[in-house]
Amino acid sequence: MAIFGIDLGTTNSLIAIFGEDGPKLIPNALGEVLTPSAVHMDKDGTVVVGAAAIDHLLVSPDRAVASFKRFMGTDHRTTLGSGTFRPEELSACVLRALKEDAEAHLKEPVSDVVISVPAYFNDRQRKATLDAGKLAGLNVIRIVNEPTAAVLAYGFSDTAEGKYLAFDLGGGTFDVSILDKYEGVMEIRATTGDTQLGGDDFTALLEKMIIEKAECARDKLTPRERAMVRRAAENLKIALTKEASAGFALTLDGATREGTITRQAFEDAAASLMRRLRAPLERAIVDARMKPDEFDAIILIGGATRMPMIRSMVARLFGRLPLVHIDPDTTVALGAAVQAGLSSRNAALEDMVMTDVCPHTLGIASIDTSMRVVTEYVAPILQRNAIVPISRSERFCTVHDQQRMIDVKVYQGEHLRPEDNVHIGSLEVPVKPGPAGSEGIDVRFTYDVNGALEVEVTSLSLDEKHSAIFRNQTGLSEGELKESFARLSALKAPPREQIANKTLIARAERLYAENLGENRDMLRHMLAQFEAALNDQHLKDPEPLRKEFASQLDRFEREVFNQP
Ligand code: ADP
Ligand code: MG
Repeated sequence: MAIFGIDLGTTNSLIAIFGEDGPKLIPNALGEVLTPSAVHMDKDGTVVVGAAAIDHLLVSPDRAVASFKRFMGTDHRTTLGSGTFRPEELSACVLRALKEDAEAHLKEPVSDVVISVPAYFNDRQRKATLDAGKLAGLNVIRIVNEPTAAVLAYGFSDTAEGKYLAFDLGGGTFDVSILDKYEGVMEIRATTGDTQLGGDDFTALLEKMIIEKAECARDKLTPRERAMVRRAAENLKIALTKEASAGFALTLDGATREGTITRQAFEDAAASLMRRLRAPLERAIVDARMKPDEFDAIILIGGATRMPMIRSMVARLFGRLPLVHIDPDTTVALGAAVQAGLSSRNAALEDMVMTDVCPHTLGIASIDTSMRVVTEYVAPILQRNAIVPISRSERFCTVHDQQRMIDVKVYQGEHLRPEDNVHIGSLEVPVKPGPAGSEGIDVRFTYDVNGALEVEVTSLSLDEKHSAIFRNQTGLSEGELKESFARLSALKAPPREQIANKTLIARAERLYAENLGENRDMLRHMLAQFEAALNDQHLKDPEPLRKEFASQLDRFEREVFNQP
């Protein structure tokens, strides 16, 4: 039986099969290989995944959700209609849709899969991904890091040794990974990034520019109008990747607003975003102890790397052109399929956790008394991007006279002040009372390949050892899995032949919400006609009807939004 590769992205997800002539992407019910990672719940409990769910973000925002990959590994809950969902469950809906698409396309069951995750995903986030796979009825034989998959997709897999830099700018996140391939091992030498920076920030910038050109106040816009501006900005961004200038037209506040934005103006406005991209890049290179000209290849991943300004920045920084002969949105999925092909049947799940470096600095809160003001800061014990497993110890001492306890507070992150970092846990350790600074403790941090941190504190004068293990929490328990599984099984998926209809109807409803007056009448009329025709008892093939309705909607959008 075939094994499949899945890129479960924040914005888009894809599934690919490793066939005789290499990896191949599989289209969804709409014939597209990219399925937006969005979920919509109908009033009757039918779950729709993909483009229709994106339109519903505008039409029925309380029943639709996107970008939930950000919540993987947390206790976050999303309410959709009357139900509440864990991020694993929402991801399972996407995986289930991909599975069904592949099964319908290939006419064979899909079970064994490789799923990719960001290199910085911790153990908990990886387990959540595995759980999502289980909930979707998949057998996840392996989790692969996204940059590793991208390198595999470029065919650097078999014999070549080399050093690669993967630059991944998706919808909402930016990830930089440095990979070193030697003796058949792919090691991640450094992973950095910015979890709050992605293609969507470039869209937000264009939104601002549109609002300025349209001369209307942002806070006066209704949520719907704002969503329309966002959509216009997204279209503009994609147009500016191809053209040197592009136009927009919107009906806001009852009036039509039109304008043109040049690529140059967009790039000028994006200067500060471009600067923010440089910092993680430089940090990764320094952390991996490399120079920009030492890489064998620079690989661009993620739809947002299509923007010309990204390509030229990367070329300038590394003094050479990045590899782009594989479509940046599909690289990871193709690589996951290559990994699927490489994985032998008995591929152990042991190497599932491939955090080869500890991705964040770990330390404890300490007090600086050298100056007159007493300030608390984090004293690092393990530096970010240290190769794991690793064990290091540091000595600390009391700060008050007659102090009886030292509260060892463990933090993760790159910031000076404790409150700006993630608090992982604490450990209270007794010390012998004495003058300030006289009593000491040794704090040893041991970080293993599974991402678990053991903290061992030795109270020197009392000769006592105290320890705690801060394990990234495991995934869902058997009971929770069962319960989730039952809940998800109760949700209906729309009959396959209806997905295309539902997607068109959602699009028409979204356009209706975005428009006013006569335009609404026109849409209502077109939609009623389409629905009536679908309901005709004698209808044999709905495809020509859909084509006709889709081109009506295209025409409508072109005219109303004045788009090419
Ligand atoms: P993710 O990894 O988050 O799922 P993707 O790799 O699919 O994301 O990238 C999505 C981002 O790429 C979005 O911000 C989208 O606007 C952007 N994008 C896609 N195509 C283009 C293009 N032609 N020009 C500019 N940005 C694009
Ligand atoms: Mg991605």
